[in-house]
Amino acid sequence: AAAKDDAGVLGRVRVAVRLRPRNAEELVTDADFADCVELQPELKRLKLRRNNWDSDTYEFDEVLTEFASQKRVYEVVAKPVVESVLEGYNGTVMAYGQTGTGKTYTLGRLGDEDTAARGIMVRALEDIIAETSPETDSISVSYLQLYMETIQDLLDPTNDNIAIMEDPKTGDVSLPGATVVEVRDHQTSVELLQLGEAHRFAANTKLNTESSRSHAILMVHVKRSIKERDSAFSSENGKTSHMAKTLKPPIIRKAKLVVVDLAGSERIDKSGSEGHALEEAKSINLSLSALGKCINALAENSAHVPVRDSKLTRLLRDSFGGTARTSLIITVGPSPRHRGETASTIMFGQRAM
Ligand code: ADP
Ligand code: MG
Repeated sequence: AAAKDDAGVLGRVRVAVRLRPRNAEELVTDADFADCVELQPELKRLKLRRNNWDSDTYEFDEVLTEFASQKRVYEVVAKPVVESVLEGYNGTVMAYGQTGTGKTYTLGRLGDEDTAARGIMVRALEDIIAETSPETDSISVSYLQLYMETIQDLLDPTNDNIAIMEDPKTGDVSLPGATVVEVRDHQTSVELLQLGEAHRFAANTKLNTESSRSHAILMVHVKRSIKERDSAFSSENGKTSHMAKTLKPPIIRKAKLVVVDLAGSERIDKSGSEGHALEEAKSINLSLSALGKCINALAENSAHVPVRDSKLTRLLRDSFGGTARTSLIITVGPSPRHRGETASTIMFGQRAM
């Protein structure tokens, strides 16, 4: 893969894997069977069982066991991206995996009563709020759902077909029709996430679908106005110049953080589906495979990243390559019954590295 910078991330995708603990059902039905994966977190390795004797070994940037706390997952997967957003570089955090493996738990958990349970979205907003100042900086949030190649506004359900605008010169992506809400405190950010979740549920009920069939996308725009410190002037020629202090305009830094809770990656049996379900399956396949191609292109340092193939990749265009940072967390379950899906999730993660 591409060369690493000091922090080990720039110019390529950082990939972590997280294993969900067995759920109540699996504890019973799989009681006589070993988990299909075995983790060696110190070695950053995952072993996928082939049978009772053999397994295949894969390496990741981080391996998060079923005991990893939400805090640790945030620190490993998202914090470096949030920090670079605060420095003015676009950043993306995505979760990919089969439905039921913990994407929403990892990204979207609000943890109202239990702060330790908070997921990446809440923690990222919390850090951004803490690191910025309301006098000089602004934080604004949009929350969207991408379903069947249509972008819906989760902060305003009447807004159900948002267009993507791309600046032909800079390649910057914007969504002029999307609701943008200024966020200043923890309370507002959690209320927005809650509102988005409620609207998502209502919209999907109306469309007769489930949240696992669409992508949820949180966008956080951070605009900072940075005044150069006095010391920078006084060191220039040995004497302090307050003229320079008042004349020098502040530096404006703009960047966005995009957090994507991807649609479930499980293969839908197309032969058994028809009509609506078949269209949904095709649409998810299209966007996830387009995403895979873009991520592979980044991993290979290819000059051409094929962003045009889906709305998802068009939306993420200015988060790919250049100075942008991307962190991918793939989520897997332990059940040997889902070994096939787990293997394909692992391959998606491996191709990104
Ligand atoms: P997905 O969004 O990938 O479909 P969810 O995040 O909804 O999956 O998780 C499915 C179920 O598993 C939920 O009940 C969730 O609370 C639980 N779960 C997921 N990850 C973990 C974890 N790391 N620890 C404990 N429970 C988890
Ligand atoms: Mg989910």
